[in-house]
Amino acid sequence: MRDAAIIVWLRRDLRLADNPALAEAVARKQPVIPVTIRSNSRSGLGDFGGYGAAARWWRGQSVISLRDSLRAIGSNLVLRRGPAPKVLLDLTKQAGANAVAFNRSLEPAQIAEDAAVIAMLNKSGVEIIEGSANRLHEPWRLKTGTGGSFKVFTAFWRRLAEGYQPPARQPKPKALMAPRDWPKSDSLEDWQETAAWTHQLAAAWEPGEAAAERRLRRFLRHVARYERDRDHPALDGTSGFSPHLAWGEISVHEVWRRMMAHHGDLALPFLRQLGWRDFNSHLLYHSPELPTKAWSPRFADFPFRANARGLAAWQRGETGYPIVDAGMRQLWQTGWMHNRVRMIVASFLIKDQMIDWRAGEAWFWDTLVDADLAQNAGNWQWVAGSGADASPYFRIFNPILQSRKFDPKGDYIRAWVPELMRLPAKLIHAPWEASKESLARYGVTLGHDYPNPILDHGEARERALAAYKKMRS
Ligand code: FAD
Repeated sequence: MRDAAIIVWLRRDLRLADNPALAEAVARKQPVIPVTIRSNSRSGLGDFGGYGAAARWWRGQSVISLRDSLRAIGSNLVLRRGPAPKVLLDLTKQAGANAVAFNRSLEPAQIAEDAAVIAMLNKSGVEIIEGSANRLHEPWRLKTGTGGSFKVFTAFWRRLAEGYQPPARQPKPKALMAPRDWPKSDSLEDWQETAAWTHQLAAAWEPGEAAAERRLRRFLRHVARYERDRDHPALDGTSGFSPHLAWGEISVHEVWRRMMAHHGDLALPFLRQLGWRDFNSHLLYHSPELPTKAWSPRFADFPFRANARGLAAWQRGETGYPIVDAGMRQLWQTGWMHNRVRMIVASFLIKDQMIDWRAGEAWFWDTLVDADLAQNAGNWQWVAGSGADASPYFRIFNPILQSRKFDPKGDYIRAWVPELMRLPAKLIHAPWEASKESLARYGVTLGHDYPNPILDHGEARERALAAYKKMRS
């Protein structure tokens, strides 16, 4: 008779390689039952129901890929619905399992969920095996000189990067011991929850561990150019790792190891971005209200304005500011937007339109394939000026100058705003500055083919600064 099984609960660690919880289960030489759970409750963001549409699409695809990889090594993936504590307890009983292994999650709802899982399983005498899969450092490990949490990125990064050594690599298991009987599973087809618009995401992305590994190999050849190219959205200058990292299809430790092995300190400008990722997780862990409340209390009563039409124009990419519209359309069509443009569109929403950053955060949450609670909230608050170590509120991005500087030829705009395809670089960043006749020569009539700008940036800037001054006084 075979030994009792170990259940491995997979969440945002949808991979076989370098997966501490899975590796620990394999090391025990017992049958392993991989499971992933879709909770129907919408109460927390930690469960499947709380994810946005683009993230749900990604996860559906990633689960298919994971199931296939597990089958290739003699195993399978059990899919279940319901509250995690109950599902896991039921499964341990049905499968005769004596242990449950999972990698810790650090979002507030999942911390609560993990605590409930641990309490329930402990009561039944089931052993818990916890690992850490997705951060360079657990947020409670890094402390300031006085023992507190970090509020400034440079100090955080200095502490993190100094002599940093990722843990030893956990190899991808070559085979998993199967249980004698597999517990019942939902059908994979029922798990594919795709909003109508998400079909276009498949043209842009290939979810899954194998695709993440290919992307890593490819980017290893480009990383030396990262610092030069990373701010230019028309170039293929960044890694595109974010959704793979968000879903744990690749280990952040493995990214670090491979970058260092190939490029040494030359990879540091890139690795610093992984530092920002950890910094935001650190902030969320120490300030669980980061997604909903201004981190800096000074901003609690900032006079944001309700503006449904302005918000809709921004969401649809019809603001009349080409760089903003290009970014918002890239997001809608691919579930991703270049970081430089994320900053530009966020600034336009919060400062030019004075719309609450939480409205932008919610839209990103629904449309980003890399939606991540800590990264989304941390970055929105960074742009709003209300976050930790944030860009000061009075630093208002000028969408025209940003566009000229980072998309000088207008190629990024042309890729996403086809109405402006024929405009030359000197007109494309601010088409309203050109005469009707010159625009007509390139087949553009403002207000007909492409919107007039919904606001005047100069005036909007003054209004935002006045509101900021008032808040301070
Ligand atoms: P690269 O430039 O190749 O960077 C490598 C990795 O470093 C990224 O994959 C990412 O994990 C991390 N990283 C890079 N920039 C940042 C950053 N500013 N903050 C935190 N981590 C970073 N990123 C998300 O993963 N999920 C989000 O929900 C998210 N929301 C954002 C919202 C706003 C308003 C802004 C301004 C940024 C947001 N970002 C978010 C951060 C950043 O834009 C993306 O991580 C990046 O564009 C992903 O592309 P890449 O993988 O090619 O990045």
